[in-house]
Amino acid sequence: MDLHHWLGSAADEIGRWQREFGAFEQHPALTVPEEDFSQAFAELAERLRANYPFFHPRYAAQMLKPPHPAAVVGYVAAMLINPNNHALDGGPATAQMEREVIAALASMFGYAQHLGHLTTSGTMANLEALFVSRETHPGRGVAYSQDAHYTHGRMCHLLGMPSFPVAADGAGRMDLDALEALLRTGQVGTVVMTAGTTGLGALDPIDQALELRERYGVRIHVDAAYGGFFSLIADDSADGVTAAPFRAVASCDSVVVDPHKHGLQPYGCGAVLFKDPAVGRFYKHDSPYTYFTSDQLHLGEISLECSRAGASAAALWLTFRLLPLTPDGLGAVLRPGRRAALRWAGLLADSAALMPYQPPELDIVTYLPRARRLSEIDALSVRMMEAGMSAVPSQAVFLATYGVSASALAARGHRIMADVETGRILRSVLMKPESEAWVEILHAEVEKLAAAG
Ligand SMILES: *Cc1c(COP(=O)(O)O)cnc(C)c1O
Repeated sequence: MDLHHWLGSAADEIGRWQREFGAFEQHPALTVPEEDFSQAFAELAERLRANYPFFHPRYAAQMLKPPHPAAVVGYVAAMLINPNNHALDGGPATAQMEREVIAALASMFGYAQHLGHLTTSGTMANLEALFVSRETHPGRGVAYSQDAHYTHGRMCHLLGMPSFPVAADGAGRMDLDALEALLRTGQVGTVVMTAGTTGLGALDPIDQALELRERYGVRIHVDAAYGGFFSLIADDSADGVTAAPFRAVASCDSVVVDPHKHGLQPYGCGAVLFKDPAVGRFYKHDSPYTYFTSDQLHLGEISLECSRAGASAAALWLTFRLLPLTPDGLGAVLRPGRRAALRWAGLLADSAALMPYQPPELDIVTYLPRARRLSEIDALSVRMMEAGMSAVPSQAVFLATYGVSASALAARGHRIMADVETGRILRSVLMKPESEAWVEILHAEVEKLAAAG
């Protein structure tokens, strides 16, 4: 699709609607001379060059990529109006779109009924889920894997809830024996299971944890901020992902997913969903400023945040219209990255210079140069990352590092001399479908970097 054309159409269509209300003069205070604009814009364009090329397959580092053009056009069209999804009178059209995309996400996770809304981020979405946990399980704390996102500990601190990191096993998944020992103390009211850890893309055993939920009367919240959309390809097939943890999400109390990660959206788009709509009662508040158009429960009444961009809902709505939440829709966007990760892990296993850290469960590959000592692996990984991105653009390769402990390496069967306790290895998030065609090139480049030392 032609981005130029559709951005122009967005401006035209919104302009047409605006003119129905009659012409008026823009205030002169807002007028900027074309020449000034041109100069300022040139400066902006120049400054934006100081970015990494998140869009290109040569960028195989962090969880970053540009949004789909449909999301850009949907966002811009709605942003020209700038609705606020805090309340129906702030954004009647986009609030309805938000309800529709939330319903689509709920059915992707197998929720028969739900309460939910978009948030500005996964962190905010998790905060809301933990806030509800505090209300349903007062005085009890939150358990999460030591490999869970770092913001869980921070949000527990903010909410005044005790938090308990649980050991991860040799695959980076929460250790259920360690969890059960903790649950026996009676101090935990909520367990956060991560469906796709940010570092490794590991899937906590959500299906097996369900049994503990009954036995110990805890809530289970699933942090699927990164991995949630892999539900679409969780079919145990050769280029899919493990079905069982994703199937179990339907039985969990709440789930978070970030459309601004694998949902092709610009930043500012997370989502939280609750299985029991009655938790809406915990958000009760009264505001004299809003709510004059309806007596329904407004999105603003079930959200901790106030103003939220209606444009985010429009962007996601337009994206889902074109790439629906089906295996053939958005699922077909995720599968190539999954294949790329499997293929690269295979090449790494056969490499004389490199080896995989552990098999990828989603589309995140972690690997390390073959060396005897952890201190050498650390230094070489950092040199490889730096050398990769300092090459000329057409030959550069962008990698990320990931901190590991000597014991985590040993748990994966790597026999490495632990002359230091922790060190960095390499990590590549292959979240663009285009990565699949570049795996051989990336691997060859990384082998060269390893050889150059
Ligand atoms: C990215 C991520 C978060 C945080 O989400 P933000 O949108 O960056 O605030 C939380 N949990 C997991 C598993 C994530 O991958």
